[in-house]
Formats: sequence, C-alpha cells, structure tokens
Amino acid sequence: MAKHGFTTRILHNDRHLSVEHGAVHKPIHTSSQYAYSDARELAAVFQGKAGYTYARQGTPTTDALEKKVSAMEGGGTSLTFSTGMGALSALFTTLLRAGDHLISSQFIFGNTNSLFGTLEHLGIEITLVDPTDVSAAAAAIKPNTRMVFTETIANPGTQVADLEGLGRLCAEHKLVYVVDNTLTSPWLFQPRTVGASLVMNSLSKHIGGHANALGGSLTDTGLYDWTQFPNILDVYKKGPSVGWGITQIKKKGLRDMGATLSADAAHRLAVGAETLSLRLDKISSNAMALAKFLSTHPSVARVSYPGLESHPQHERARKLFGGKYSNLLGVELAEGIDSFDFLNRLQIVILATHVGDTRTLALPAAQTIYYEMGPALRKQMGIADGLIRLSIGIEEQEDLLADFAQAFEQCQTKAA
Ligand SMILES: *Cc1c(COP(=O)(O)O)cnc(C)c1O
Repeated sequence: MAKHGFTTRILHNDRHLSVEHGAVHKPIHTSSQYAYSDARELAAVFQGKAGYTYARQGTPTTDALEKKVSAMEGGGTSLTFSTGMGALSALFTTLLRAGDHLISSQFIFGNTNSLFGTLEHLGIEITLVDPTDVSAAAAAIKPNTRMVFTETIANPGTQVADLEGLGRLCAEHKLVYVVDNTLTSPWLFQPRTVGASLVMNSLSKHIGGHANALGGSLTDTGLYDWTQFPNILDVYKKGPSVGWGITQIKKKGLRDMGATLSADAAHRLAVGAETLSLRLDKISSNAMALAKFLSTHPSVARVSYPGLESHPQHERARKLFGGKYSNLLGVELAEGIDSFDFLNRLQIVILATHVGDTRTLALPAAQTIYYEMGPALRKQMGIADGLIRLSIGIEEQEDLLADFAQAFEQCQTKAA
C-alpha cells in the first residue's frame, strides 16, 4: 500500500486487514472479551503475543483505526483513546514522574493547559515558552527536562511553532518531542518529518470531521530511542526498544486508566477519515477567502490566519503545511462593534464550541473556552476579550462570505 497516495491508503487499508466476509468497512466489534479454545494460547496473548483479551485494551475495530492513523502519519505505531484529552492524560502521566521537567508551548488548547495544573500537583515541573522561537525552549532546558510539547497551529491565536527547530533541539538533547497535530492533521503535516517522537491527534476534530464522535490517538513515529529515556519500567523493556514507549503508554495509560475508544466511535471516525483530504482542502480554501475578506473589511481590527502574508509565521506555515492553512481564524472587530451582537447576527455560522467540523462554527473565546483560566493566563496566551474564534467548514464560499457581510451590515446599521 505504501506506493499509493494518502487517500487511497485510507480508503483501502481495511480490506487488507482480513476483514470478515469481504466487508469493505471494518466491522464494529462489540464484544468485551475474547475467548480462546486453548488455555496456552490465552496465556500467550496475556504475555505479549498479538491478540485480544479484554476490550479496554483494544478491539479489532480500534486496531483497524490505529493502523489507519499510522498510515496517515507516515508510519509508526498508534493507540486510540476515547478522547484527545484521554490520549494526552495517558501520555503525560505514564511517561513523566514527579521531579521531571516538561517544556511546553504557552499557546495550547485550554484543557491541555488545565491538565498541566494537575501534573504540577503530581510533582511534575512545567515551563511554558513561546514555541515560535526555539531559543526560548533551548534556554528552558534543565538536567531534569524529559519532554518538549507543542501544537502545530495554536488555537485561537494561530501562532505556528518552530516545529523544525524544536525537533533539532530535542534530537540534540535526547528529549522526547511530542507534537499535537490536531489542527493541521496528517493531511497538512506529518510531525515525523521534523523528528517528532510522538504525535497526538484529537480524532474528534479534522480526522473524524463530522462532530459525531470523540476520539484521540497517539502515534510513536519510531524515531526516538527509548533506551535513552529513564522512565521506562523494566517490565516494558522487552523486544525492540522502538516499542517500549508506546507499550508503556498502552499498559499504564490505556489499560490502567481506561480511556478506551468504543468500537462504535472508532467506526464513525474511520468513515470520517476517508474524506479528510477533500474536507481539509475545501476548508483551507474557504478559510483563506474569508481571511482575505475580513482583513480588508472596515469593521475588522485584526485577523489571525497563517495563510495571510501579514501573519508573523506565514512563511514557515507555507513551507511546513504545503500552502494550506487549515480551519482556524482569530478575529477582533473594530472599536464600537460588539462581538456578541455581531455573532448573534450570523445566520449560517453556528455559535458553538468545537473545531474541525464540516460546518462553520464561531464563539467568543475569552468568555467561553478560555473563561476558567482567568485574565492573567489569557493575557499570557494572547487571548483578547473581543477575540472571536472561527472554525471554517465546507459550505459554499459565497454563502459564507455573504453571511459575514450581512452580519456586518446589520451591526453598522444599528450603530449608525
Ligand atoms: C480538541 C483538542 C484536544 C482535545 O481533544 P478532545 O478529543 O476534545 O478531547 C487537544 N488538542 C487540541 C489542539 C484540540 O483542538
């Protein structure tokens, strides 16, 4: 399959994974347990032979999705979880210990930031740095630093991390390099190309793509040498060392913590993944058109979109993401236009949280998803009170632009 293109591989790889009766979709395996007619075989599976035991550690349905995610990410070994946060919780708590130091981007998903508070209570030290400039991360490295974490395009500020620079830094210092690829997805960017050790995707976003199932994944790219990592338990130092990290996450994270993806959700996410490239191309071209429209509109003070030449990391984004810039826009309206009034006048755009749907979504960021963290942290994360976060969908471009135009017109009429 390797010689085929991205979408061809996603569409056809199930058929090569011994699907029953020639079914084109991987069946939804609902069984909680897997039986063996030979007790020795049962024991062998418990002791590491490939196979299924209890569905908390995976089913043939989640297994098929994991192989699809690995194919999308350009290789490696993947695990799926019930949500993206389930994947991140499993990752951080099973690879890091009290006394370890984690360096993270300061521009991260709000719930990841909140999870960091929990890690700090468990004794893990965290330094937040500006990921657009690798020198900040370099300066933060200490003898107990174990891991560097960043997102690709930040939400909602759209800062683009120096993904290549951070990769080189981690390689030089033998640090585990984790990239949250959710907002680019493997269609725009494969973090293994910049040396990522582990890649996280919220499957709830672009990969599933239809806002009808939650899921998360972790992919070990195979690039990190786990013999360099001090926190692998002896029991998982079996077989080739490339597998040690993901085995520890599977056993201590997925199995013991239990954020397992259901077979039903895995099926929906796998079907959604078939059209990832089509959706994200359309989303990117819609978002680009809207960003251009908004950036010259008199009622708009500021637009953040990596596709705009005015974006501070535009050139980096163009090189890394192949000239497509995904779904996220940050918009601040001109003085005198109330962002809530404006949002209320949108007719097609849905006022809801979530990103990476087929539908265009909008919300006032500071008062919703970033409300709990308070003003000081919002300031550090660059989230202004009037910031509107948009996640662009696949509607016809003219309908989208017209919806924004009519909402601006109504606001101006009211102000006049
Ligand atoms: C949504 C999101 C997550 C969390 O994923 P869930 O599936 O909602 O738990 C993590 N990182 C980023 C960048 C996200 O957008």
